[in-house]
Amino acid sequence: MSTTENGPIAPDQRQAHLAKASEWQDGDIHIEKINWVTSVFLVVTAIIGLSAPWFYIPRFGFGWMEATLFLTMFIAGGLSITAGYHRLFSHRTYQGAWPVRLLAVLFGASTFQMSALAWSSEHRYHHKYTDMDGDPHDPHSIHRGFFWAHVGWLLVRVNPRLQHTNVEDLRRDPIVMWQDRYYVVIASVMGFIMPMAVGALWATQLGSTAGHGVFAGFLFGGCLRVAVLHHCTFFINSLAHIIGKQPYDSTNTARDSGLLAFFTFGEGYHNYHHAFQTDYRNGIKAWHFDPAKWAIWTASKVGLAKNLRRVPLETVKLAQLREKRANLEKKLERKNLESVMDSWRPTLDALEARLEELHLDFRRQLVRYTQAKNAKIEQQRELLLEIRSDMREARRQFNECFKDWRRMHRQALTSR
Ligand SMILES: [Zn+2]
Ligand SMILES: [Zn+2]
Repeated sequence: MSTTENGPIAPDQRQAHLAKASEWQDGDIHIEKINWVTSVFLVVTAIIGLSAPWFYIPRFGFGWMEATLFLTMFIAGGLSITAGYHRLFSHRTYQGAWPVRLLAVLFGASTFQMSALAWSSEHRYHHKYTDMDGDPHDPHSIHRGFFWAHVGWLLVRVNPRLQHTNVEDLRRDPIVMWQDRYYVVIASVMGFIMPMAVGALWATQLGSTAGHGVFAGFLFGGCLRVAVLHHCTFFINSLAHIIGKQPYDSTNTARDSGLLAFFTFGEGYHNYHHAFQTDYRNGIKAWHFDPAKWAIWTASKVGLAKNLRRVPLETVKLAQLREKRANLEKKLERKNLESVMDSWRPTLDALEARLEELHLDFRRQLVRYTQAKNAKIEQQRELLLEIRSDMREARRQFNECFKDWRRMHRQALTSR
């Protein structure tokens, strides 16, 4: 899969695509269109799960068994969706060894969010056709409102069904295909039967009945955990396109929210993710709460993951710069200070042109470095040292120029 293949659709092609997709419209929730299996499952698990504490706890209490059943299933499922379904299968941001892929499909299925193949396909469509109203190619476009983006899109059948033609790379992975084929069985075993069996064993160890443990496993490891995890994941399609900032790209609705990251295993930095979907991190700062990033990094340290992809900091800084520049123009225009902007424009333009040039130079060195690293040539060590020093110099010049730009930008921003 190349990046461009699944990257956002070009602006000039959006209109033509929408016209072609018009036959897909009308995904509103009509009774005859309801997807009954999904709808009943979502509603019933949520009702049983959320009412469980009220009828279970007064009778049996809430101890280590109930907490462990809920939390281990919650964390394993959450990481399988974020680090597995999302960052590994949908975006190929790193390469996972077979145990990682196997765990991801096993616990990913336990969350009842479709097979990895179907999930990745629909997610790739979401990135490609983000925000395109009335087009099921962005299955949960936020332009159709919070409810639609959050859960409404799952409750109805769209006609014709989305064809999963954008996941040919995943079809070559036998683990992904095995899970896709036996999805319902794997999901039932991993999502309900396993926590119920563990509950039965645990309860009998505690001197209680196996039935008590089965009940605990069904309620806390099953229904409640499935319902909470569903809505945490759904937040990424709804709230992550509504609340937060847009530091990297304001041409789509995705937003960065540190608060949302706490409920989504780090996926709250959604503006960054939409801008740089090939990066294995969503929260790029060391202090950003991103458990999926930490899990992937840890897996790479024990040999279970490799080729973790990161977008160079210079590229990220340039994206931020473009956003800041656009906001500055808008702000001064709002305040009727276009003449102030006219006086700053040549300086900022010149610095930005220089930064683009230095960035390009840096990227060229990076390609050279990767090629030299992969080539088995004799003078490789010297060559790598030489390129590394060139890269350091390009980075130094970029940062210097960036500082100048920031100073000018600040001055322009505070102009009266
Ligand atoms: Zn994504
Ligand atoms: Zn999104």
